[in-house]
Amino acid sequence: TTQIRLAARPVGEPDDTCFETVTVELPALEDGQVLLRTVYLSLDPYMRGRMSAARSYAAPLEIGDVMLGGTVSEVVESRSSDVAVGDLVLSFSGWQSHAVADAGAVRRLDPSAAPVSTALGVLGMPGFTAYAGLLEIGRPQAGETVVVAAATGPVGSAVGQIAKVKGARAVGIAGGPEKRRALTEEFGFDVGLDHRSPDFVEELAAATPDGIDVYFENVGGPVADAVFRRLNTYARVPVCGLVANYNATSAPEGPDRLPGFMGQILSRSLTIRGFIQDEFTRSHGRDFLRDMSQWVGDGSVRYREDVVDGLEKAPEAFRGMLRGANFGKLLVQVGPD
Ligand code: NDP
Repeated sequence: TTQIRLAARPVGEPDDTCFETVTVELPALEDGQVLLRTVYLSLDPYMRGRMSAARSYAAPLEIGDVMLGGTVSEVVESRSSDVAVGDLVLSFSGWQSHAVADAGAVRRLDPSAAPVSTALGVLGMPGFTAYAGLLEIGRPQAGETVVVAAATGPVGSAVGQIAKVKGARAVGIAGGPEKRRALTEEFGFDVGLDHRSPDFVEELAAATPDGIDVYFENVGGPVADAVFRRLNTYARVPVCGLVANYNATSAPEGPDRLPGFMGQILSRSLTIRGFIQDEFTRSHGRDFLRDMSQWVGDGSVRYREDVVDGLEKAPEAFRGMLRGANFGKLLVQVGPD
């Protein structure tokens, strides 16, 4: 198998020295195991956190570990009666061309139900993050205003569209005019905004004349600063991600704004609640698959994928995602070699 491993911990943006490509022999299969060939590798922002030494909600990778990640894989050899050669499965093989897995650790996919790549996007972890975080914490009501950034990505685009299904007004924020256009034309947001526009703050105010009831926090940084000023009394803020900070090497300049922020939480009765999606697997996993499959099927939730060809492209594509170079759910197609 060809593997991409963590070679050094990044300082700021992960450069090429952080990754090392090696080819190794995989061990022979034991009973109950399968040999997998990676078809699609998912690239996700959380991987940046695992490259750092700091312990977060999950333990960091060690130097020399294979970079982690969800995959859609094809079974090429099986010593399990549950999984057959040729099956396509959802696995967690990471950044490598082949892997050995326990059959119990993979989930068979039905290619006739939906394109298998969606198991890593709209019908997988990112879609679930949007669904559970928005419905359980954001709780949008009909007529309310929901704002989300990274809004053409797999989490943000689903947040906006689920908000619409629930009868809310959806305002999406993305980087650049092309993504901005896609927000309204492709994903059905009521308004699309470009956070790089010099007039972003005024445009946000014009787009949210009744204030903001739900801010689904994906990014942090200047976008969050602008949105926070417009939160209504009793607004809810599911804190999902802070991608603007993931490569940061120091705290932002300027005065300490925490006291002002706490004052706003108090005076406007805000609910700010962080979450890691898997806390909701038990409570919302089934409902998610039922509802999201229906919404994707009837066209009320659309999705966009950005597929990069070749495992060797993963480091560059991953770096790009943290700056917004991706347009839709970022996947690496790992060709048969
Ligand atoms: P995306 O495909 O949306 O990629 C990240 C996007 O973030 C970029 O494309 C870019 O979009 C945007 N971005 C980067 N820097 C900035 C910035 N400074 N200001 C504004 N936007 C920025 O990723 P996902 O949909 O997979 O993930 C979205 C968020 O959800 C991330 O924060 C991620 O960590 C989080 N997440 C959290 C989970 C949880 O369990 N809590 C689970 C899954 C994801 P643009 O060009 O539009 O700016």
